[in-house]
Amino acid sequence: MSQTEIHQGQCLCGAVRYRVDGGLRPVIACHCSQCRRATGSYMMATAAMRETLTIEGGDNITWFTSSDTARRGFCKLCGANLFWEGKDLPYTSITAGSLDSPTGLKLERHIYVADKGDYYRINDGVPQSQAFEGYDPTPPK
Ligand SMILES: [Zn+2]
Ligand SMILES: [Zn+2]
Repeated sequence: MSQTEIHQGQCLCGAVRYRVDGGLRPVIACHCSQCRRATGSYMMATAAMRETLTIEGGDNITWFTSSDTARRGFCKLCGANLFWEGKDLPYTSITAGSLDSPTGLKLERHIYVADKGDYYRINDGVPQSQAFEGYDPTPPK
């Protein structure tokens, strides 16, 4: 348990703010086509156990059901992508770019690399895989 850890972040316009009282997972970059369309690039996200996440201005979030198993939350005023929630998963993924700096986080994995855009290369030495292949994306408590 790391109850002393606190992280905060917000959307571009500030109408949605959030706070995590607990640890964050290392960052995962997802190159799947849904993440690429939702973000305009690929999705760099950390994650927090849901009970550690407090959202302020939640009325300003639009939750879009992006598949049978997941929904994505973005600010309805400025359009900033903030959250991804998988059905039956105990955590919320949080876009790394929405966190206040310094995050203290590190990119640990590229996933769905076979679905990446054809206009960029992944050559940072960080492990790559399709799906998670043994990597546990559950954040610390
Ligand atoms: Zn906003
Ligand atoms: Zn994805």
